[in-house]
Amino acid sequence: MKKLLIANRGEIAVRIIRAARSLGLKTVALYSDPDAESLHVRLADERIHLGGSAAKETYLDQDKIISALVLTGADAVHPGYGFLAENAGFARRVREAGAVFVGPSPEVIALMGDKEQARKKAIELQIPVVPGAEVTDDTSFLAAEAQRIGYPVIFKAVAGGSGRGMRIVRTADELAAKFQEARDEALAGFGNAAVFLEKFLESPRHIEVQIFGDSFGNIVCFGERECSLQRRHQKLVEEAPAPNLHESVRARLHVYAVRLGKECRYESSGTLEFLVDGGTTADSPIYFLEMNTRIQVEHPVTESVYGVDLVRLQLEVAQGKSLDAVPAPQCTGHSIEYRVYAEDPSKGFSPMMGQARYISRPGGPGLREDGWAESGTKISPYYDSLLFKAIVTAPTREEALRLSKVYLDEYVVEGFETTLGFHRWVLTQPDFVRGLVDVYWISRNYDGTVVSAPRATSPFVLPPPRQSTPPVDVPPKR
Ligand code: ADP
Repeated sequence: MKKLLIANRGEIAVRIIRAARSLGLKTVALYSDPDAESLHVRLADERIHLGGSAAKETYLDQDKIISALVLTGADAVHPGYGFLAENAGFARRVREAGAVFVGPSPEVIALMGDKEQARKKAIELQIPVVPGAEVTDDTSFLAAEAQRIGYPVIFKAVAGGSGRGMRIVRTADELAAKFQEARDEALAGFGNAAVFLEKFLESPRHIEVQIFGDSFGNIVCFGERECSLQRRHQKLVEEAPAPNLHESVRARLHVYAVRLGKECRYESSGTLEFLVDGGTTADSPIYFLEMNTRIQVEHPVTESVYGVDLVRLQLEVAQGKSLDAVPAPQCTGHSIEYRVYAEDPSKGFSPMMGQARYISRPGGPGLREDGWAESGTKISPYYDSLLFKAIVTAPTREEALRLSKVYLDEYVVEGFETTLGFHRWVLTQPDFVRGLVDVYWISRNYDGTVVSAPRATSPFVLPPPRQSTPPVDVPPKR
C-alpha cells in the first residue's frame, strides 16, 4: 500500500489521514460542496471533489468514489465509520478495482453487519440474545409472539443504525400502529422496511467489546467499553474499562466476543455490542445485540487504556501484518470520551447549524482531542454534527473525572449550542460519578439544564476592561 483513499469526512477522515501519514502513506481526500474547506481536505496529499451536498450524491455515491479511486491510482480505501463502512457491495467493488479495502472481507460484512444474520450466528454459538421473533409482516403472528415474549417489546429495523426505526410497544392494542411507524421510518432511513421484534429491556447497560483480527486467524481482545450514556438510543459519553462490572461478567463478555470473531475469521477492527442487565453481580444477564464491522467512534478510549493505535493497526493488518507479534493487551488506567456535537441539549438535543465563530480548547496531560471543527467551520444540515471528541485519561476513574471537569470547563465553542453544556452538567450528577447509569438514564433524569463554562476564554465574552484611573493634573511648568 502506497496511497490511501479515505471514503469519509469529518473527524474520522482527519484521524485516518494522520495514521496513514505516520506510516508514510500518501492520502487522498474526497469532499462534497459544503466540505470544500474542511480540515481533512487540507491535510491530504490529494483531493477529489465529489460535487453535491447530500450524502447520497457524495460520500454514499459508490460510482463517484470508485472513479476517484481509479483516477488517483490509490491502492487502498479506508471507509471510516458510517456512510459505506458496512456496505459489503462497496467493499467488493473496491477489491474488484484492484485495491485493498481496509476492513473485513465483503462476506464477513454481509454476515455480521446484518443484525438478523449476526443474531442467528450468536444463537448457533450459544451466546445469549434478547428474546425475539422472526422477521415477518404478518401482524397477527407478531401479536402472538409479543404475547409469548411478554410486553413491553421493541421493533427495530433490520438495516438499522443510529437508533432509527425503533418503536417501543407497551400494550397489545398499539402493536399494529407501532409496527407501521417503525416500517415507515426504516424505509425512509435505510431503503429497507424490514423490522424485527424483541423484548424491550427497561434499564440495560450498553457494553461493547473491541476485537481485532488478522488474516492468519488470530483474534485479539482489547477489552470493553461502557456506552450507556445515550440520548435517542445514541451514545454521548463512553469509557474504558466499564465501571462497576463484575469480573465474571467482564470475562464472559470477552469470551463471547472472541468466540464470534474466531467463528467468522474476523479481520481488522470489530466491535461486538451487548446489553447487560445490572452487571454488578456474577449472574447478571448478558445479551448480544449486534456487531459493527468497522472502527467505532469511541475507539480512542480503548486506545488510551491499551496503548494501541487501532487505525494504524487496521492499515498494518490490511498490508498483511500478523498479530502474533503484538504483545497481549494490558489495560492500564481509565479513559472517558465526551462527544461534542452541535446540538442544543436544552431542546431535546436538537441538531444545530451555523458557523463556529470561535473555538478555544484546553490542552495538557491526559487530554486527547479528535476533531475537525475549527474557528470558522460551518456546520451543514447534510451530515452528522459531531465537532470533536474530548478524551480524558488518568490512572483511575476518579482522577479522570476530576481532570474532565478541569478541561471541559475550559472549552468554548461560540456560534451555536453544543453538548458541552450537558457534559459539564453530567459531571455534577452522583449517578454518573458513581458509574451507575443505564441507556435510559438521560431520558429519566435530564431536565435540559446546561452548565456554561465558568472561565470563558473567548475574546467575545471577556470581562469588561478595568476602569482606567482619571488623568492626574500635571502642574504647569515653571
Ligand atoms: P443501532 O444499530 O440503531 O444503533 P442497536 O441495536 O445497536 O441499534 O441499539 C442501539 C441502542 O438502542 C442500544 O444501545 C440501546 O440503548 C437501545 N436498545 C436496543 N435494543 C434494545 C432492547 N431490546 N431493549 C432496550 N433497549 C434497546
